[in-house]
Amino acid sequence: MTTYNLKVCHLYGNLLNTYGDNGNLLILEYYAKQLGINFITEIVSIHEELEADNYDLIFIGGGQDYEQVIVSKDIQTKKQQLTDYIESDGVMLAICGGFQLLGEYYIGANGEKIQGIHALPHYTLSQDNNRFIGDVEIVNEEFGETYYGFENHNGITFLGENEKPLGIVKNGFGNNGKDKGEGVLYKNVIGSYFHGPLLSKNKNLALRIINMITEKKYNKQFDLSDLN
Ligand code: GLN
Repeated sequence: MTTYNLKVCHLYGNLLNTYGDNGNLLILEYYAKQLGINFITEIVSIHEELEADNYDLIFIGGGQDYEQVIVSKDIQTKKQQLTDYIESDGVMLAICGGFQLLGEYYIGANGEKIQGIHALPHYTLSQDNNRFIGDVEIVNEEFGETYYGFENHNGITFLGENEKPLGIVKNGFGNNGKDKGEGVLYKNVIGSYFHGPLLSKNKNLALRIINMITEKKYNKQFDLSDLN
């Protein structure tokens, strides 16, 4: 019988964990156990070397501008590893501030330009004295799936070439409140503004992420009926 192992890097897990983004990993672990998959998580943070190829999933959460500025400087030292990982179809989940940092830049609430790693071509501007806060519902027609979540962000993100939104907004604001896109899909990267409850509210997306990993690593797909 095959032993399935899933090794996760929680990038800046001690700095970027607003609104319990960490819960996404707890949910993945919960489902992985049901599927007989061993699940290991390691935090890689500032001043630590990232060996991206050691991981089956890289997860990065969101943060306030204060933490984002600190991470923005350090993540430049991990830029090449992350870019190579993404381009070679590594699986990644990036929430809110983490999603912003994969792109070109983010203009913070005080007008400061916070550099991203330019791995993806989106960029993020700030809104004047406003945040997008509340429940969101989006639909991904290609997958035939609906996702529910909660957003809280000042940044407004505009996707670039070869980036598709994770879903089309049916309720809420999404990336920028204008073009109806929410989040991003690029190769095996999923980005989203949905905080804490992303995977706990969306079993279909949790399974999709597990399957992206096991498909790539073991050529194996699980079914929703395999989960409680
Ligand atoms: N600081 C970013 C913004 O307000 C990200 C916030 C977050 O991750 N919650 O847009």
